[in-house]
Amino acid sequence: AIELRGVVKRFGANTVLDGLDFSVAKGDRVTLIGPSGSGKTTILRLLMTLEESDAGLILVDGDPYTHEMKGRRRVALSERRRSLVRKRVGMVFQQFNLFPNMTVLENIVEAPVHVLGISKEQAVHRAKELLDQVGLGDKADARCTQLSGGQQQRVAIARALAMDPEILLLDEVTSALDPELVADVLGVLREVAETTDITMLIVTHEMQFARDVSNRVLMFDHGRIVEEADPETMFSAPREERTQEFLKAVL
Ligand code: ATP
Repeated sequence: AIELRGVVKRFGANTVLDGLDFSVAKGDRVTLIGPSGSGKTTILRLLMTLEESDAGLILVDGDPYTHEMKGRRRVALSERRRSLVRKRVGMVFQQFNLFPNMTVLENIVEAPVHVLGISKEQAVHRAKELLDQVGLGDKADARCTQLSGGQQQRVAIARALAMDPEILLLDEVTSALDPELVADVLGVLREVAETTDITMLIVTHEMQFARDVSNRVLMFDHGRIVEEADPETMFSAPREERTQEFLKAVL
């Protein structure tokens, strides 16, 4: 489970998140929707510790994630404590972010071996299982640069899953793909959703995907949650005018 309490994030004079509170229960699949610039990606980047919040707390299963309160003071956790909690969170990015000079298999075993300390043999075994699962069993020795965007994204999904995350963050994972490659990637994610109990936090413009996999949708505007509902309600009968306008523009 993830909990955000009063999270503030500023970029210079621009306050992107202004005291955001919300929580995601274990096994939840939550999609964040909302206009460009509303802060969705920033939330994922905070959860991946790629950005640092300015105030507030993030908890993962009740454990402080980057900061904790000592009395009334917010103090940063040590690198060691941070890295322990961060291991529970995996992320797949819009731009894949694979290591270009490595093979597909090397990309997947890198972190399990070097971060989790799993044996090379075990990591390779698991990586091959995951490659089969994402439909790339025959690509283990290919260079990433030889793969299509959709294949690279499926490798990135396998790489995230190889860390056995409790929480998976998906940031517009199909936005950089040609339309004909989108379905394969979404199919793989749909299967992950159906076959695991990984908590998922999803930022996507694919409303059908949001509808299929998530059990909760949060509509953001200017760093605030303007509406929260199950997908059926959110996409068929949104309450808020701001949500209605947004969905009219994207659906
Ligand atoms: P999109 O759907 O376009 O990805 P978003 O809802 O994910 O939008 P964010 O990417 O979280 O929005 O951006 C929220 C705001 O924060 C925007 O105003 C953006 O310009 C600003 N911002 C994000 N990252 C940075 C940064 N590294 N430096 C300065 N401003 C930033």
